[in-house]
Amino acid sequence: MSTLYKWGAGRDPDHPVITDAYDEYLVTEDGEEIIDAAAGAAVVNLGHSPDGVDEVMAEQASRVGYTSTSYFTSPPVDSLSEKLAAMTPGSLNTTFLSNSGSEAVESAIKLARDYHVARGEPEREAVIGRWQGYHGATLGALSASGNTGRRTTYKPYLQDWPKIGPAYPYRWEYSGSPEEQAKAAAGELETLIKQEGPETVAAFIAEPVSGSSIPVAHPHPRYYQEVRRICDEYGVLFIADEVMVGFGRTGTMFASEHFDVVPDMLTLGKGMSAGFAPISATMIRDELLEPLEDAEHSFYHGHTFSGNPIATAVADHVVDRYTPELLANARARGEQLVDGLAPLRDSSIVGDIRQLGLMVGVEFVADPETGEAFDPDLGVYKQIFERAFEEGVYTYPGGGSVDGHRGDHLMLAPPLTLGEDVADEISRTVVNAVTDVERDLE
Ligand code: PMP
Repeated sequence: MSTLYKWGAGRDPDHPVITDAYDEYLVTEDGEEIIDAAAGAAVVNLGHSPDGVDEVMAEQASRVGYTSTSYFTSPPVDSLSEKLAAMTPGSLNTTFLSNSGSEAVESAIKLARDYHVARGEPEREAVIGRWQGYHGATLGALSASGNTGRRTTYKPYLQDWPKIGPAYPYRWEYSGSPEEQAKAAAGELETLIKQEGPETVAAFIAEPVSGSSIPVAHPHPRYYQEVRRICDEYGVLFIADEVMVGFGRTGTMFASEHFDVVPDMLTLGKGMSAGFAPISATMIRDELLEPLEDAEHSFYHGHTFSGNPIATAVADHVVDRYTPELLANARARGEQLVDGLAPLRDSSIVGDIRQLGLMVGVEFVADPETGEAFDPDLGVYKQIFERAFEEGVYTYPGGGSVDGHRGDHLMLAPPLTLGEDVADEISRTVVNAVTDVERDLE
């Protein structure tokens, strides 16, 4: 038997086999329990054993397990679409369902193109992204992504779309107050749009709070308010990619709420089914639909499993469980985690600790004074990840990107149901892992 591992063929044949899971814990085939401080891949927001999801799946499977949404709809599709319209901000009222975050982004890119073509501006092609942003593994989504490591080999297949720098206050070199810096950073978008020619730009896509590349980097709200103004001024659509940060992860239902900005499109995934089924959504504002509806040829697009009734029934059930109480727990446990990480503020290898809701990022640097990154060959992040894992805590795998290399970061994104004791155990374990590696490096 041979399997292609996610991060490259034959990576580590000794990877743990997970046979069971409950609450915050993964259980291996040997009965070992691991705290899932990454909620899978920031997916399992309700923990690993929420009551009732299995019943919803079984009930739907017993009625109808598949219909093609190219012709039919089903009660869960209608119900979920109504709920998403009610939950999301502004007039983001129309939903297109697909199966992964990457597909949700692909759909947004195509919708942006269709919108401009329908309005008689077919030369608007470019989707501006940000260096180190991540929007998915498929070619359109990767073209809009600036995650250098993931792009390298596939460059010949990618669209050559322009990019601005990341919303990464820790590494910004702008001066002034956080608000002034945010305004200056967003100004990069305006400069780039002007350079490219506004008539060639279709959309700007950004993770409101960044996840997999630069964990939990988030700017002053002014940044996105400026982005909104700039997009409006130049007729560019703003796509907020909330695949990771939607559904309570940052302590509000959607991360855009922190910045008081309504995007033109919103992409959702991960927490939408809390991991029980592959499902994602692209939400679009009412105002954008009018030209699309009148167009002769628009959005000729879809996936076989779009709106699969079982996946949709799961999501329809799960979204109701993002209650104010759950979001309050996410905020409280997030604060608790960073409080528990306080000893790391004096560490000689920690440059920055960032938190929003139940999403915590720690950035490791060779020199906290200057922010100088570690030599990637030292594999500092990997050592810390492994040390924590040996102690039974799984942190979000991945690094970030500093000047083109992955950088050394750690992200904590446990289930929003996280309990106080487990939160303490996570921070204690991470502090010990960092302290051990710090000692080894000396
Ligand atoms: N957008 C963002 C912001 C993501 O974090 C991810 C996944 N990490 C994706 C898109 C891609 O989602 P998927 O892996 O489900 O295709």
